[in-house]
Amino acid sequence: MFSNWHDAIKRLLVSFLALLLAGWLIGEPALVVLAGTLGYLVYHLRQLRRLYNWLRDTDFSEPSPPPESKGIWGYIFDGIYLLQRRERQALLELKSIIDKAQESTAALELAVVMINNRGGLEWWNPAAEQLIGLQTPKDKQQLVINLIREPTFIDYYNKARFNRPLKLSSPSNPAVMLEFQITTFGAGERLMLVRDISQLHRLEMMRKDFVGNVSHELRTPITVITGYLETMIDDKKNLPARWIKPIEQMAQQSHRMENIIRDLLTLSQLETRASSKQQTAIQLCSLLREIKQDAEQVFADKQQNIKLDCPDDIYVSGNLSELYSAFSNLVLNAAKYTQPQGDIELTVEKSTKGLAISVKDNGPGIAPHHIPRLTERFYRVDESRSADTGGTGLGLAIVKHVLARHNGKLEIISEPGKGSRFTCILPVERIVEPISVAVNTTSPDPAV
Ligand code: ADP
Repeated sequence: MFSNWHDAIKRLLVSFLALLLAGWLIGEPALVVLAGTLGYLVYHLRQLRRLYNWLRDTDFSEPSPPPESKGIWGYIFDGIYLLQRRERQALLELKSIIDKAQESTAALELAVVMINNRGGLEWWNPAAEQLIGLQTPKDKQQLVINLIREPTFIDYYNKARFNRPLKLSSPSNPAVMLEFQITTFGAGERLMLVRDISQLHRLEMMRKDFVGNVSHELRTPITVITGYLETMIDDKKNLPARWIKPIEQMAQQSHRMENIIRDLLTLSQLETRASSKQQTAIQLCSLLREIKQDAEQVFADKQQNIKLDCPDDIYVSGNLSELYSAFSNLVLNAAKYTQPQGDIELTVEKSTKGLAISVKDNGPGIAPHHIPRLTERFYRVDESRSADTGGTGLGLAIVKHVLARHNGKLEIISEPGKGSRFTCILPVERIVEPISVAVNTTSPDPAV
């Protein structure tokens, strides 16, 4: 480029000197230089016109070669032509990537929907038409919450808590169960992925029904067996001596089985029954006082020191028997696993974030690697310790489910040798002002 430019300057200087010399020879240097300058101007104007015409007539998707030219103009024409061809090449590559992306998303069974920062539909693949009934191109720019009008979806979309997917039946076919997953990208845009989970959902329902039905069917035979065994133990003196120990062990194990069946039924009801819309206002302290008394009675021989610290005016809205079941599981666990004369504290704290109901003990504690798995069904820290105490391994799973149904969560802090603290966190929305309360302190149905 520099040599072209230098050549052009050199040529201009030489021409100027030649004109000056010719003008001087004929005695009219100014006129000759003026005529030369005009000629130079006309030449460049012509080149500019050729450039203008060429650019005007060029189809940028298929650029045509530039007019033949020499020197600096030849360089400019070739340079622009090269840029045009490069741009065309880049466009072709981009188009082929977009085509491929569109072809692959069209082949997907997963619905892909792009939503702009105003909540309008920008683009979607054919699976979205089938799964959520979007219509192309009619629904373009329509607000997603106007097309999927299910209140749970609108709530999920507006609250923008997308860390968990949402399960919902299809707006176009209620028999189809869908899972919605939304991610945000760019400047407030959203990508929504929707997949059909009907098969999985059916299997999950079958599993829940199966556990529920089996537990239900086993309840009566076990109750009968336990009943007979209890009667035999009551009438111990008439039993042959060698039968006493086996019968006592059978009674103990059938009690355990009864407990497992009871907890499995509770869990299955928590999983399959929708959260009750009619929630009662529960006076938390009287509920905890009742649970404290139960624990003191059940573990009377352990002589533990159970303390309750709870401001009397706290009411929560929820399901009484479910909350009873959750808190009593935690308190009975604390009493069960803590040594005789141990200390157990029940505390209720209210803050702007919600309500924290803690059960703290100075029992054996739990090693850190067990803590994340404690709420799994049948997970026990120490098989022998739990079997001794008659545990079912289902208690904390029940606590977790109950709290989830009350939009709450369970936090566990524990250190081996020092004790444990199980805290139930309930959101502020669950706190009921005492003025608006019709008090409910009746004993809950112990089935759940
Ligand atoms: P289980 O019926 O066996 O008590 P849970 O689900 O209630 O089942 O508890 C799971 C396991 O967590 C128990 O087996 C026990 O090892 C441990 N655990 C629960 N609470 C305590 C506690 N307060 N102190 C020590 N370990 C506990």
